[in-house]
Amino acid sequence: MPQIHVVSVRALAEYAMEKGDLIPGGASYARMREGIRGHQALQELLPVNWQAEAPVSRDIETDGHILRVQGRADAAYIGPDIVCVREIKTTGRNPHAILKYDYPVHWAQAEIYAALLCLNHGVERAEVRLIYARLDGVKREYAEAYDADTLNRLLMGYVRLYMGWITAVDDWKAKSLATLQSFGFPYDDYRDGQKEMARAVFRAMKRGANALIEAPTGIGKTAASLYGALKALGKGYITAIFYLTARTTGRRAAEDALDRMRAQGLAIRSVTITAKEKCCLLEAPDCMGCPHAMGYYDRRRDALKAAVGMQKLDADAIRALAEDYGLCPFELSLDISETADVIICDYNYAFDPRVRIKRYFGARSRAGLLVDEAHNLPDRAREMLSASLSGRRLYELRKRVASFEGKESPMVRLMTELLRALKCENDQEPEALSDLPEGVVEAARRFAEAAGELQSAEPDVREFVFDVQWFVNVSKRFDPECYRVMMLPQDRWLLIRLWCYDPSKHMRRALGRVGGAALFSATLAPMDFYAAQLGADGEADESLRLESPFPRENLKVLRLPVSVSLRDRERTQHAVAQVIHAMAEAKPGNYIACFPSYAYMTLVFRHYRMLWPYEDAICQEAHMTEPRRMAFIERFVPAPTRSLVGFIVLGGVFAEGVDLPEDRLSGAAIVSTGMPQLSFERELMRELFDDADDGGTDAAYTYPGLRRVLQAAGRVIRTETDRGVVLLMDVRYRQEKLRELMPPHWDVTDVNKLSDLKRELEGFWEG
Ligand code: SF4
Repeated sequence: MPQIHVVSVRALAEYAMEKGDLIPGGASYARMREGIRGHQALQELLPVNWQAEAPVSRDIETDGHILRVQGRADAAYIGPDIVCVREIKTTGRNPHAILKYDYPVHWAQAEIYAALLCLNHGVERAEVRLIYARLDGVKREYAEAYDADTLNRLLMGYVRLYMGWITAVDDWKAKSLATLQSFGFPYDDYRDGQKEMARAVFRAMKRGANALIEAPTGIGKTAASLYGALKALGKGYITAIFYLTARTTGRRAAEDALDRMRAQGLAIRSVTITAKEKCCLLEAPDCMGCPHAMGYYDRRRDALKAAVGMQKLDADAIRALAEDYGLCPFELSLDISETADVIICDYNYAFDPRVRIKRYFGARSRAGLLVDEAHNLPDRAREMLSASLSGRRLYELRKRVASFEGKESPMVRLMTELLRALKCENDQEPEALSDLPEGVVEAARRFAEAAGELQSAEPDVREFVFDVQWFVNVSKRFDPECYRVMMLPQDRWLLIRLWCYDPSKHMRRALGRVGGAALFSATLAPMDFYAAQLGADGEADESLRLESPFPRENLKVLRLPVSVSLRDRERTQHAVAQVIHAMAEAKPGNYIACFPSYAYMTLVFRHYRMLWPYEDAICQEAHMTEPRRMAFIERFVPAPTRSLVGFIVLGGVFAEGVDLPEDRLSGAAIVSTGMPQLSFERELMRELFDDADDGGTDAAYTYPGLRRVLQAAGRVIRTETDRGVVLLMDVRYRQEKLRELMPPHWDVTDVNKLSDLKRELEGFWEG
């Protein structure tokens, strides 16, 4: 029995007939295929004997393979001697501006439905009608008549083209599967906890559930999670693996782990999706008119075929392929992801409704998710699901557009109209509402529709229009159980934020649609809080807390009762500087001193330089470029002969995701409990999460703070041979709640005097 391949009518048509540009508004079909709204309105007007969403399916045999083609025709009539098919395409364009053959893929789709219906019902004639409809009711129709032979010839042409491609993908999958089933763990031995972690990942994928795993730094989470997921892939429990990470270092770790597995015989195709701005082939990215976007769909098929033979499609390989075929690398990586075994990308491709990969995350799929640094995900999800509309931004933009388009241009008039809805009263205070401001939403909706039609060539205007469209979109999903409207005055204007304060509902739904997920991090305490926030608290879900695999005595944790509250900072800066200096003086090495804000960091850094001007100390700057960041990190050399102190900000680029193994980092002084500063948003969160146990303060301040602290402290011990110190400076570290949330492998010693601190440090390093 030949293997049956299943394909939707739409996918078959798109593969066979795709043509055109990538850019919305050109001859691209990509925009048109998104349009489904308005279908029901037209379907309701169907004559009797017509069927809306008519199901169609047929197995077609060719060259020893069977292709099952299936789908639902928008509307169909099946008579004794004729089949009629209507394909409805909702569009934002003026339907009268669309020519009959602008979108060959739409004809192909309708022809496939007609061909299948003729074959299934033994009918010899068909009429196909394409209807382009705008939401306001304007429409344009095109019709074509066919005989069954012609339709069959067209159908077989599409099928053969598709089979040529899909059998190449299948051949690869068969080769990969054999190695997936036989390959072993890619290291000689498991580190403590790695086997448990790999098993938990495998179990989650097998049961289609979630595993929340707290595993200390250095345990080898990347290799363990990938191994567990690859084994599930080999067993057929999942169909692809998404390794989701927010950082370049996480992406590299996943690529390196897969390289190691390939070196041991695993055949696996992985693709890395890099953000558009980072992988763009143009110096100044502007997709409108970009040569790599024009004719993208004409050249894409050949590039995809070439990619089937490649195992590692990282950023460099994608770029080379994109250059060879003249394609946009970003879009190419998304297209390749549809057939890859492992997709390494940011969280947003799975969870952000704007950019998530529809094939895997738009509907149910059996993708397995590995979420690295999952502690970041609740905040990221809040961002992904929220939307803002800023009057100040619009005011500035309108001024610029008026200067080159003139005050009476249609775009400026639309902007002026929207701006009226964003005016704020002189004495208006920030406020949070649980109902939508209907007037603003309506103004935004009108603007989004009309401005979208104008299709501005100005990138800033296009971006603003997209943002307003997103604002309107979020207003439709607004739910007072997880959203609030923030009305924030900014000068004369309002910033209106539709803020998703609780992303758990969305996360639960998103995770429920995939084939299983493992969410891991070194800092997920308390686990029940994160499980709820991440939507991983279902009955079938499990959580696992792993011990550090490294000797406890290699880490010295000292707690110092320094008052670092805002009002005491000037007074205690000298004491803080002395503690940091004592840490650096105890043994030549590289150290970090971590602060909750730039202002506090700068205050103590200046004092430190004044006291010890000849000692090595560097300080993080706001908005550092990539080369400056690299230069900062490179100062942390191995085997230093004199001490260096890097002053950094908790939660910033150097406090998380930076790997300084062995003697590249000997200690971290953490000033404060890392709690975020008071803000309107944080206070609102505290109120919204509040319960009898003061859960609001924990959710808004304590847990985010602790997460930053533990991430920074986690930089110190990275391997079995690392030794190092962590100094916790804040009187609040003695509170019972914080003590309970400390990692279980930390032995914390209290010191009250500088002399005691020096003695403890000396003892540790001598020991
Ligand atoms: S290459 Fe750059 S400018 Fe061109 S389509 Fe891709 S992202 Fe846009």
